[in-house]
Amino acid sequence: MAYDLEKQVAIAAVTQAAQLCEAVRQGLVPAAIEKNDKSPVTIADYGAQAVICKALAAAFPADPVVGEEDTKDLRQPAMAPVLSQVTQQVQGVQPGATDSDVLSWIDHGNGDVARRYWTLDPIDGTKGFLRGDQYAIALALVEDGDLKVGVLGCPFLSFGNETGLLLVAVRGEGTIMMPLASGEPQPLQVASADDTAHLRFVESVESGHGNQDQQSAIAKAVGITAPSMRMDSQAKYAAVAAGQAVLYLRLPSPKSPDYREKIWDHAAGVLVVQEAGGKVTDMHGKPLDFGTAARFPNNQGVVVSNGAIHDTVLAALKQGQPV
Ligand code: AMP
Ligand code: MG
Repeated sequence: MAYDLEKQVAIAAVTQAAQLCEAVRQGLVPAAIEKNDKSPVTIADYGAQAVICKALAAAFPADPVVGEEDTKDLRQPAMAPVLSQVTQQVQGVQPGATDSDVLSWIDHGNGDVARRYWTLDPIDGTKGFLRGDQYAIALALVEDGDLKVGVLGCPFLSFGNETGLLLVAVRGEGTIMMPLASGEPQPLQVASADDTAHLRFVESVESGHGNQDQQSAIAKAVGITAPSMRMDSQAKYAAVAAGQAVLYLRLPSPKSPDYREKIWDHAAGVLVVQEAGGKVTDMHGKPLDFGTAARFPNNQGVVVSNGAIHDTVLAALKQGQPV
């Protein structure tokens, strides 16, 4: 099977990171620290990036990793107690890890987009994590701008009786889902065109991460009458891949119309949906560009669907639905 080693290493690393995140979340109230951009970051974000980057550096030393976190704040003397908490958590999955190991593993995640690279969001949906809602650990391998492997760990997600799911996609080989705790993998398929029971759409919980009025109008224009399912993180991609919803809309917020989406907020989710039979483009119908930079230079908004309704959604967007 293609990319078998990459897939196995990514699954093991994301599973370890998910264990670390749940250990932090189930401990005390997660300690949120304000980063310069004021987004919350926790011990778990740093810890998850450290364990995944350590695994990738050991297995694929030549591959750059484009990850969300860096150590600028964590290296400040005032942050020493935080660093020591991160190291303590990392030791839960990497016994013997030191503060300096942890800093260098996190820094390994500050690579640039290259011909072949990994991209990592150690906790996507940090706000959901802090609220006790959905979050995801998202890791993907990109070669020549094409997604090859995507792994999404969703510790809080449940589509049946299992809570905590791992979704894995390899280009050309489909998407599978299994319990994070271990269990039988099952193939995933998006909802079919005649599946009216799942004619629903997903969008962010955070209203500032999209344009909810426009999203509702477009959903209505394509025949979706049910209210949206609001979820944090790339768990939204998982909902479309698993056939729980037919559409995920992320249209630019009127408060930040020039916002450029980051590759790690989408890479793993996009492949998981594509390999389950769905389609992903920007709001103008262009493929998302994973080959240029850490933020999509020429894409605006994201449209994720079961494929069957994709063109209708793009047509509604082009017509400019009244909002
Ligand atoms: P979600 O949980 O889907 O709402 O997305 C979480 C991600 O939204 C974070 O990882 C941020 O990188 C990203 N984000 C931050 N600001 C914005 C914005 N103005 N528009 C869209 N996404 C944003
Ligand atoms: Mg994110």
